[in-house]
Amino acid sequence: MIPPPGRPRRKNPVLRTRVPLLPPRARSRAALGLTAAAALGCLELQVCTRCNRVQYPSSEVCRNCLSGELCWRKQSGEGELLSATRVHASHEPYFRERAPWRVGLVRLDAGPTVVAHLHAACGPPPGRVRVGACLDKAGQGVLVAFPPQEAPNMADDRELREMTCDPKFRKALVTDGKTPVGRALVRALIGAGAEVVWVGHAEPWKKSAALADIETSAEATLIPLDVTDSRSVRQAAAEIGGKIDILINTAEVHRAHGISSRDGVEVARAEMDVNYFGLLRLAQEFGPALRARGADGPSSAVAWVNLLSIFSLANYPPHGTFSASKAAAFSLAQCLRAEMRPGGIRVVNVFPGPLDDEWNQALPPPKLSPEALARSVVKALQDGVEDVYPGDVAQEWLTRWRENPKVLERELSL
Ligand SMILES: [Zn+2]
Repeated sequence: MIPPPGRPRRKNPVLRTRVPLLPPRARSRAALGLTAAAALGCLELQVCTRCNRVQYPSSEVCRNCLSGELCWRKQSGEGELLSATRVHASHEPYFRERAPWRVGLVRLDAGPTVVAHLHAACGPPPGRVRVGACLDKAGQGVLVAFPPQEAPNMADDRELREMTCDPKFRKALVTDGKTPVGRALVRALIGAGAEVVWVGHAEPWKKSAALADIETSAEATLIPLDVTDSRSVRQAAAEIGGKIDILINTAEVHRAHGISSRDGVEVARAEMDVNYFGLLRLAQEFGPALRARGADGPSSAVAWVNLLSIFSLANYPPHGTFSASKAAAFSLAQCLRAEMRPGGIRVVNVFPGPLDDEWNQALPPPKLSPEALARSVVKALQDGVEDVYPGDVAQEWLTRWRENPKVLERELSL
């Protein structure tokens, strides 16, 4: 069992911020399948479709029959811990700084024997473990051996905390606290142990009943922030940009319009101004400070969360202009991810299905409640995953989009 951690010591502000060190991140194209599955929180290994051999490390051909017909399949990760050790000396500066580091050799029931990071709750060998795939600080998929049963304070493991974005003891910003999703997220972050949650609100001069419970909360602090106003974003970044560990962008405009159902471009412009340009403004002002603080010890800056939509993947014509603005935001989020990765900051993209709100009234159930969405965002941070598809509708769309994006497009346009 891992003892519950105390609050980490504050960084001495006089000390220089260290240059973020990252674990080795070079991977072959064949190995990126492990990273792609780890980004969703799954363990997948290469399987030969001819001889059914599961292989690790991955390669271009099957090491048993030399067939090039390989695919990636989900694995349970069950296996036997054969040996364990602590690395005290490493030629990699990242691990040298974090030594000792626990690793183990695990023989998977599926066949291969793998070297994995070893969770502190795993007992000494021999013993049963469950191997999972996580994204490391460099955003690459690595194998981690967990105990077969959940133990208390699992997420507090020092090695695991390097790979996840747990809100516990961290400071977060929710960019729009007025929406039901924003409010649910503030509550979920405080429930998960966040130290401070700053809550943006675009019209600070207006008294809002929706923000009443936030105003009385000890952990939450309101801050004026209008993502459509560059000056407001710059001012908020100057005030709290250097303290934020997790930024969650919940600012969103959603109207149910296609192209021909409304004249003019005002509604579409408002959607783009918040959903796309809002993200761009935030990224320009808050991004550099967040990226520079990725190495600030156990409570370093860790994550940037974008609330996108499953409509980012394929346009849903009754909500056509909204879908287009979210597709633009998705593309920008991919750019942001590439720029934040060298600083060890994870960009988490959330693709919910239709929410249970006024703009989705005409859509049939199931619809996602703001509380369920907030729970899945916090869980994604705790698990360290990169892409989240909360709710049944989002999962169904994702499956159909992966099978054939063209078929989905035609089905949606009927
Ligand atoms: Zn084979």
